[in-house]
Amino acid sequence: VTMFETVQAAPVDPILGLTDAYKADPDPNKINLGVGVYQDANGVTPVLPSVVEATRRVVAAEKTKSYLPIPGSPQYGAAVQRLMLGAEHEVIASGRGSTSHTPGGTGALRVVGDFLKQNLPAAKLWLTDPTWANHPAIFAAAGVATDSVPYFDSATNGLAFDALLAKLRTLPAGDAVLLHGCCHNPSGIDPTVEQWQQIAQTLAERGVLPVLDFAYQGFGIGLEEDAQGLREFCQTGAELIICSSFSKNFGLYRERVGAVTFIAADADRRDVVQSQVNRVIRTLYSNPPAHGAALVQTILDDDALATQWQAELAEMRTRINGMRTLLVKKLAEHGVPGDYSFIEKQLGMFSFSGLTKQQVERLKQEHSIYMVGSGRINVAGVSAANVDRLCAAIAAVCG
Ligand code: PMP
Repeated sequence: VTMFETVQAAPVDPILGLTDAYKADPDPNKINLGVGVYQDANGVTPVLPSVVEATRRVVAAEKTKSYLPIPGSPQYGAAVQRLMLGAEHEVIASGRGSTSHTPGGTGALRVVGDFLKQNLPAAKLWLTDPTWANHPAIFAAAGVATDSVPYFDSATNGLAFDALLAKLRTLPAGDAVLLHGCCHNPSGIDPTVEQWQQIAQTLAERGVLPVLDFAYQGFGIGLEEDAQGLREFCQTGAELIICSSFSKNFGLYRERVGAVTFIAADADRRDVVQSQVNRVIRTLYSNPPAHGAALVQTILDDDALATQWQAELAEMRTRINGMRTLLVKKLAEHGVPGDYSFIEKQLGMFSFSGLTKQQVERLKQEHSIYMVGSGRINVAGVSAANVDRLCAAIAAVCG
């Protein structure tokens, strides 16, 4: 036997594996509601015009391909903080937050995993039930122990807020909780601002570290509104970690552009923490890829380009919300039993449809409609052109 003959095949990735199956399906009317990538009305994932213009400027101005610093460009970090927190925020004024450019939101999460494992080895990380399928895998790879807190209430298709808060009140000091800053993946259900306040206060009282995964700013209600929950955790002196992704809101999926922000009690602590973050990054990927972050920085630092990008982001958000309304209307028209109005209340790209594993499997086998086994739908995959076929198929498997 050779060495590689002893290697066992890994299971197919539950989400990316779906894309492969979709691509291999010869049905011309197939529908992909799987992977979380925005699609326009024609099923295309566009390069935003603001990104095209920023690319032109970045390429024209580029003088070197030498390495960036370990945390990436400081101007990028500053632009990220202003977008998340608002330019006037105390965290920015006091300089107690430090932002590193990471390869995507996934890179940010893995930096957090290694940081926790190396610096706070006793901390268990609590994840929402359900959560993004890659969360448990990323932290397992880093060797961080995870467990879950209640989040989704299938009886109401809403937030299990009382159960969540009750659980948070039992967590020991020194643990950490990973929450989704907005547009919870996969449920599409976010706490209200009042609920966020209670969650933030509870974690602060218990000495539990908040970690916010912020991958969809601007996909829910708006750039400012979507950051409101996260800002509740940034009270004077409070410690927290934010993982950002610009894959969705800038459409920069393959450029791998994200950020991790550690907010410490003061600027001195910030430097100590960042020294450990740098150590983690050095062994994971040494320093970040420049191009995607240069695009984001160019857009955010130019008023006209930033305004243009905000309009392009609003267009994506408006289309998704329009498809939510259309989906609810068409499900009723096609006689699908039950009240699906909750789909219109969910935020972001995803909707928990309530379809069972068996129904999801039948949609794939019999109708070439692809969605994650949990019944999570990427609403951006719905269009005026495919909504009738989709709803007729759902009616067929629900009948
Ligand atoms: N967090 C959540 C909740 C996500 O849905 C995603 C993307 N699917 C990410 C993080 C990471 O995104 P990326 O690494 O592509 O920036």
